[in-house]
Amino acid sequence: MTGYIGRFAPSPTGPLHAGSLVAALASWLDARAHQGIWLVRIEDIDTPRCVPGADGVILRQLAACGLHPDQPVVYQSERSALYQSALNQLLAQGDAYPCACTRAEIAQANQARGITKPRHGDMLYPGTCRPENGGLMGRPPRAYRMRVPSGPEARIDWVDDCLGPQTQQLDTAVGDFVIKRADGLWAYQLAVVVDDAQQGVTHIVRGEDLADNTPRQIWLQRRLGLPPPHYRHTPLVLGPNGEKLSKQNGAMPLDVSQPLACLRAAGQALGFDIVADSVPAWLERAIFEWQKIRSVPPAFPP
Ligand code: GLU
Repeated sequence: MTGYIGRFAPSPTGPLHAGSLVAALASWLDARAHQGIWLVRIEDIDTPRCVPGADGVILRQLAACGLHPDQPVVYQSERSALYQSALNQLLAQGDAYPCACTRAEIAQANQARGITKPRHGDMLYPGTCRPENGGLMGRPPRAYRMRVPSGPEARIDWVDDCLGPQTQQLDTAVGDFVIKRADGLWAYQLAVVVDDAQQGVTHIVRGEDLADNTPRQIWLQRRLGLPPPHYRHTPLVLGPNGEKLSKQNGAMPLDVSQPLACLRAAGQALGFDIVADSVPAWLERAIFEWQKIRSVPPAFPP
């Protein structure tokens, strides 16, 4: 073993589709190419979006494609205590604060300051409940927000293994973001950072649609004193309408009665075309192809 730990972290909002298999396969291949460990974590904290039984379906789909986790599957719904202790730490450090604002109030405050909501994205939080602005002013807390810095400190840079150098100005792109939601649920940003660190994940391989979440996660890692993992964001599979294939826009569940066809399509999305007569043979060749793409040293010296 090389100290590499990777993971696939699906939300159980439905079965895997062609796009999610690409992310699963890429993370598995990268782990295998590095002789590392591959984990599966079910991200079931957004309970209103979770579909009962979808976790089992996803795990069976992965297994049919030969993708077996190296350790027992972890469920975020069972890890609340970890998220609470991270929130406590951030509150104690003054990095997080409770917020009483409703969406309507945020929209109104932004309007008054001439800030309009970006077409795709959350409203920037105007900082109303920051302690230096008066805090909750006697109102009951709804959500908890992470304070982001301003100016040069707010510029987060990272070198993505696939996308190359990336940058985001946190204060103007996202602002003080929610880490515990008004409905009491843990926000993805906090849970993912806490879990990746707690599970010792060293390499995060996931779909490109999550790339713009990465700076928020890096900021959380810094403030929680957690080691930064490597990031690799893989290209998305687009549907016939040119939009990202997703459960939300009606992507068909993977038909894993034909696992080789599923794997071949996923491999093509990652840049190689392999035909093999069994799943293990396909995967073995795919590791080799992936090593060429990644230019990592071969798992075993020739
Ligand atoms: N659970 C997230 C999703 O399915 C992925 C989280 C991650 O890979 O960081 O979109």
